[in-house]
Amino acid sequence: MKYTGTTYRPPYEANSLLIQVTQGCSHNNCSFCTMYRDVPFMMESIEQIKSDLLEARQMYRSVRRIFLLNGDAFTLGFDKLKEIGEMIIDIFPEVEDIASYATIQSIARKTDDELKALRDLRFNGMNVGFESGNDKVLSLFTKGNTAAESEEQLMRLKTFGYDFCMNVIMGGGGLEYSKEHIDDTAAIINRINPWMVFLMTLFVTPGSPLHDMVQRGELTEGTAGDVLMEEERLINSLHLDNTYILGMHTSNAVPIAGILPQDKNKMLSDLRTGIANLDENFLNKTHKRSTEGRYVD
Ligand code: SF4
Repeated sequence: MKYTGTTYRPPYEANSLLIQVTQGCSHNNCSFCTMYRDVPFMMESIEQIKSDLLEARQMYRSVRRIFLLNGDAFTLGFDKLKEIGEMIIDIFPEVEDIASYATIQSIARKTDDELKALRDLRFNGMNVGFESGNDKVLSLFTKGNTAAESEEQLMRLKTFGYDFCMNVIMGGGGLEYSKEHIDDTAAIINRINPWMVFLMTLFVTPGSPLHDMVQRGELTEGTAGDVLMEEERLINSLHLDNTYILGMHTSNAVPIAGILPQDKNKMLSDLRTGIANLDENFLNKTHKRSTEGRYVD
């Protein structure tokens, strides 16, 4: 199996077959992200993808879910994705979902007919770097799209029957834009009602453009306590029907998970208990993190 550089996948794809169809990330410009800075974007050859699929077929009797690597594999053009999807179904006829990371731009570039055809080829469960519903925060993150564009493209995915996960960065607005970040993010999530919302916490990696912005005073990172209070406000503001909330990223000080609406009180209670059990010194400071966002101090 060919994997180039560090391989990233969402935590809930732990049991999925990982197939590299691109290297790096075609955008590779989000101000907070250093994941693929040293990996040039490249499409994998069809021959290599086929060879990896055949090798995996020898190893696994049944594969229900495949996650296409790397940073934004859905950026591939329709013809290439169609060819990959048909090859997967030929080699793994039992597969149910072909998932990947996706940017808003990678969805926008597909026509309605293309999105529908890919869904028919079992593409589903995209993990989308939504990050925030607030334009100021998206601009600070240099995501390259507005909140209205996010909503429009995610609604298109929904129209064509896709399940998808919206990633949200808690603390993404710093202290300056915290309220707008949470209010605007909750409003869009509520209108979309996605399959899943994945919560992670902002960590400012040295070497990232966002780190320079923080150094210049353009954004003030909240303390661990500030971010946990944001998370509580966000959960309180979400009014969803059968949406998974997964707040289990290593960057989160208190892990929570559940399904809305039925688990809202349990998640809020887990969050409050977690906060109450944390030391005040921990809550009142910003922390050093590993490259995966783990607390290292
Ligand atoms: S956050 Fe995602 S889209 Fe942005 S640079 Fe990193 S991998 Fe690419």
